[in-house]
Amino acid sequence: MGSKKEEVRRKRIRLHMEGALTARDKVGVQDFVLLDAYTSESAFLDNLRKRFSENLIYTYIGTLLVSVNPYQELGIYTLSQMELYQGVNFFELPPHVYAIADNAYRMMCSELNNHFILISGESGAGKTEASKKILQYFAVTCPMTESLQVARDRLLFSNPVLEAFGNAKTLRNDNSSRFGKYMDIQFDFKGIPVGGHIISYLIEKSRVVYQNQGERNFHIFYQLLEGGEEELLAYLGLERDPQLYKYLSQGRCAKESSVNDKNDWKTVSNAFSVIDFTKDDLENLFGIIASVLHLGNICFEENQQGCASVPDTHEIKWIAKLLGVDLWVLLEALTHRKIEAKTEEVICPLTLDLSAYARDAMAKAVYGRTFTWLVNKINSSLVNKDFPGKTVIGLLDIYGFEVFDKNGFEQFCINYCNEKLQQLLIERTLKAEQAEYEMEGIEWEPIQYFNNKIICDLVEERHKGIISILDEECVRPGPATDLSFLERLEEKVGKHAHFETRKLAGPKGRKKIGWMEFRLFHYAGEVTYCTRGFLEKNNDLLYRHLKEVLCRSKNRILKECFLVAELENRRRAPTVGTQFKNSLGSLLEILISKEPSYIRCIKPNERKEPSKFDDFLIRHQVKYLGLMEHLRVRRAGFAYRRKYEHFLQRYKSLCPDTWPHWHGPPEEGVERLIKYIGYKPEEYKLGRTKIFIRFPRTLFATEDAFEF
Ligand code: ATP
Ligand code: MG
Repeated sequence: MGSKKEEVRRKRIRLHMEGALTARDKVGVQDFVLLDAYTSESAFLDNLRKRFSENLIYTYIGTLLVSVNPYQELGIYTLSQMELYQGVNFFELPPHVYAIADNAYRMMCSELNNHFILISGESGAGKTEASKKILQYFAVTCPMTESLQVARDRLLFSNPVLEAFGNAKTLRNDNSSRFGKYMDIQFDFKGIPVGGHIISYLIEKSRVVYQNQGERNFHIFYQLLEGGEEELLAYLGLERDPQLYKYLSQGRCAKESSVNDKNDWKTVSNAFSVIDFTKDDLENLFGIIASVLHLGNICFEENQQGCASVPDTHEIKWIAKLLGVDLWVLLEALTHRKIEAKTEEVICPLTLDLSAYARDAMAKAVYGRTFTWLVNKINSSLVNKDFPGKTVIGLLDIYGFEVFDKNGFEQFCINYCNEKLQQLLIERTLKAEQAEYEMEGIEWEPIQYFNNKIICDLVEERHKGIISILDEECVRPGPATDLSFLERLEEKVGKHAHFETRKLAGPKGRKKIGWMEFRLFHYAGEVTYCTRGFLEKNNDLLYRHLKEVLCRSKNRILKECFLVAELENRRRAPTVGTQFKNSLGSLLEILISKEPSYIRCIKPNERKEPSKFDDFLIRHQVKYLGLMEHLRVRRAGFAYRRKYEHFLQRYKSLCPDTWPHWHGPPEEGVERLIKYIGYKPEEYKLGRTKIFIRFPRTLFATEDAFEF
C-alpha cells in the first residue's frame, strides 16, 4: 500500500514538473491565463489547436475547464488517473475533468457547502460524457460502506435508463440528449455518496412523431424492438422490424450501425432491475411505449362528409388493450372534438388533418408525461431515507447556445436558458470577484462586461416580455397566428435595443431578416428566429376529449400522469414557454446558493472524426461559449488566492524565518516568505486576509521549490 502511494506521489510530481516546465512549448499552455496575447482570439485558437494535436483535450481558463471532444478513446480515464487526481491541488496537475470533480468534492468536504458543476457546449461537444466521467470519478474515489453500495449503483444506473428514453441519434450526435438534466449527488458528513435527485428540462417531444432525414426517434423504441424478448413483443403486439412503424422510419435510418440497440437493451434491462423497477412497472411502461408505436400507424380516411374515419381498427385495438381504455371511446376521441356550447357539449367530427394532429398530440403528451414519471420514479429510488444527505454536488448537463440556419421555438427556449445561465455566471463570478477585491482592499481595474439582464428581461418580463406576448397571443380570441404574434412583438418590443424585426432594417452588412422572423441580440451574438410554429408549440394542445380518455386509462403509469383532477380544473395549464421560464427560475434558485465550477465543451468538427480541428467551427463556439470574455475577466483578476494562515502553513518550510514556527501575525510571515523566495511586485497583492497571486506559474515555481 505504502509503495503504491509513493508511486502515485512520484507520478504526480513528474506530471507537475512536466506541466510547469512545458508551460510554453509545443503543447501550448495549460491555462489560457498564461497566454501572452491573451486578448487575441487567434492566440486562443492556436493554443487550443496545439494541445488538441497532442491529444491534450483539456485546458483551463483559471478554474474553468475547456474540453475539446477527441472523438477517440485516449486512455485518460483509467483507475490510475483517478488515483492521481485524488486530493491534489488544482494547479498541480495537467487540466482534467477529474481535477474539477475532485476540487468540488474536497471543497465540499472541508467547508461543508454545496457545489454545482455546469457543463455546457453545443450538441456533440461532450457534455454528457463529461458528466458521466464525473459521476464515475465519485463512484470510484469517494469513501464507501457496504450498505451504501446500492445507493451508488442506483446513481450510476439511472444514466442508461434516462439516456434510453431521453436520447436519440441526430445528425450532430449519435447519442444526443434531447432534454436538459440537473442531477444532485448527495453526500453524507463523511463524504460518502448516499443518494441523488434529478430534474429534467424540456424534453423534445416533437421527435416522438417526426424525425428529420438521418435522425431517429428516442433510443428506447429501437432497443425494445431489437432486444425485447419474443414473449414481450407478442404481449405488446409488436413486430421486430422498426421500418414497419411510421414513427420510427421517417428519418430513414431506423437501423443505425453506430448504435447497438440489442446490447443497449441488455444494459437498460439490467439498469431497470438495479433501480428497483418492478415487473408491473415495466409491463405498464412498455405498454405505453408500444402504444405510441401503434398510434403512429393509425391511418385516417376521409368519409363522404369530409370527416376523418379509421378504416382499420387493428392498431386501436392494441392501444385500447395496452392502455386499458375503451376502444370506441378512443376511436371517437381521435376523430371528433368536444366543443362546449352554453349549456351542453357538442361533438364535432374532425377533418383528416385535425385527426392526424390529435393522434400526434396524444403520442407526444403520453411520451412526455411518461418521461416525467420515469424521472420521478428514478428519484424515488435515489432517495435515501436511512442516510440523509448533508451536502450536494449538482451536475448540470444542459444544451448550449444553438444557432442554426433556421431557428425556431426550441432554439428560442434553449438560448434563453443560456442567457439565464450567463446571468448566473455574472452574478457568481464577476460580481463575487469584484466584491472580494473590494472587501480585501485590493486595487484593480473594474472589468467592463456586458450584463445581459436586459436580454433576460426582454424575454421573460411579466406582461412585457416575449414569452408573455406569446402567451397572450395564444389565448387571444379570434384568429391568432404566428404572423399576428410577430406583429404584436413589433408593436410591443420593436424598439428594444436587443430586438429587431423585418420592418426595422438593421445596419448595412447584417444578414437580412426574412419573412416571419425576428432577431435577438444575445450576449453571445445575434440569432434570427422564425416565428413559424411558435403558437402551436407554446400551446401544446391536447384536445379535451383525448385527455378524458387518458385520465380514465387503467394503465397504472398513465393514471399517475393524467389525473382526473386535471379535467375538473377549467383553468388553462401554463404554456410551454411559461413552464420553461418557471423551471429555469427554480433552477437558478437551486444554483445561486451553491459554489460553481464550469466546464465548457467544444466540438472539433462536424464529422465526428478524431484529430480534425475545424478552425471555423471552433472559432464560432469560442464566441458563443463566451470564452474570450471569461479569459479577460480571469486575466484581469488573480488566478489564485489563499488565506495568510493557509499559505504560510503550506510554504513556511521554504524560508528560514518562518520555519519551523512563525510567531507573529500570519500576514507578516507571508511577506517575509515571499520576499525570501523572490516574488516580484507585479506577481501578487496582499489583501486584508489573503494573498492574491496573479498567475499560476508563480505558484508552480513555489510548489517546485517546495517539492524538492
Ligand atoms: P448533446 O447536446 O447532443 O447531448 P453532448 O455534448 O452531450 O451532446 P456527448 O454525447 O457527450 O455530447 O458526446 C458525443 C460523442 O462524442 C460521444 O458519444 C463520444 O463518442 C464522443 N466523446 C465525447 N466526449 C468524449 C471523450 N472525453 N472521450 C472520447 N470520446 C468522447
Ligand atoms: Mg448529451
